[in-house]
Amino acid sequence: MKEKDHIAGAVLHWFDQHGRKDLPWQKQRTPYRVWVSEIMLQQTQVSTVIPFYERFMAQLPTVEDLAAAPEDTVLHLWTGLGYYARARNLHRCAKQVCDAHDGVFPQDLEGLEALPGIGRSTAGAILSLAMDTRAPILDGNVKRVLARYHGVAGWPGQRAVSDALWSHAEHHTPRARVADYTQAMMDLGATCCTRSRPACELCPINSGCTARALGQQSDFPGRKPRKAIPLRKRWLAVATRAPGEVLLQKRPDSGIWGGLWAPPEFDEAEGATEWITDTLSLPPDVCQVDAAFHHTFTHFKLEAHSVRAHLGTNRAPGNRVECAAGSLKWFSLHPPPSVGLPAPIVRLLARLSAETALRSD
Ligand code: SF4
Repeated sequence: MKEKDHIAGAVLHWFDQHGRKDLPWQKQRTPYRVWVSEIMLQQTQVSTVIPFYERFMAQLPTVEDLAAAPEDTVLHLWTGLGYYARARNLHRCAKQVCDAHDGVFPQDLEGLEALPGIGRSTAGAILSLAMDTRAPILDGNVKRVLARYHGVAGWPGQRAVSDALWSHAEHHTPRARVADYTQAMMDLGATCCTRSRPACELCPINSGCTARALGQQSDFPGRKPRKAIPLRKRWLAVATRAPGEVLLQKRPDSGIWGGLWAPPEFDEAEGATEWITDTLSLPPDVCQVDAAFHHTFTHFKLEAHSVRAHLGTNRAPGNRVECAAGSLKWFSLHPPPSVGLPAPIVRLLARLSAETALRSD
């Protein structure tokens, strides 16, 4: 494959005039701060990430603080960002950096990639942005710029396409000003070479861009082959009690809601009803099934129904809850609990909170 001329000079010149230089993770740049920002920015836009990042750093300013934090605190700080495996890996990674590396991030690709949740692009970003060490990155923005510039056809999830893009990324990464170049490529993808309607006339590399020459910007990068998204129906056993508490269960560490708190979940309404009546010593007729609510995940759509029961002050709860292993706990609804909660459960609790505030029992 014959490479085009290096784009770094033009990209850096553009960066000096138009690049972003005051993002929170660009200040006091350390491997820890860059790493947390890179993990948050995976599948999430900069404007969404900023308030989460600032809250996270205010509470957990160092890798030691993160390693020592309870999992519920980490997941609570992540609530609303989604893709919770990122937060669990972040926590595991911080512990590993502290336990195996005395709190200092490894300074080479191999060492960084051996840590949980750090792939080649994140490792490249830590090396280039925090250590000014030459290492290419290939996040979603950079993939788009390079796929269009070089006319790399196909979906980047395919090995051959990814290999071609990495090879271009490697070729263009300069030896000097590598931190600025890395930031510049991310900025170019985010602000100029956008997914729809890229501002090609303002782009510093437009004269050599294959997609622009062909007038086919929207064909690059290729899209992931579409698969029908399956629908999963679930029933949640939602128990509330006066004066405004809800019973939640901590999910096991694996799975899409791993480590988060949510009402117990069942494949059928009967399972949820049985669990409530058995655990809380209530007759089945106190349970009501609410209208379904929906949430779309990457791989499936969730249709969730709440099977609800409310314990008034005149009804003593069964003691099995108190006896159950630490995975079950009553939480106040006002304010909502400071633990990790999936987005649909945050909405459910807000609704319950409004309803229980209106109840007199
Ligand atoms: S010319 Fe347009 S399509 Fe090509 S890299 Fe620049 S913004 Fe992207």
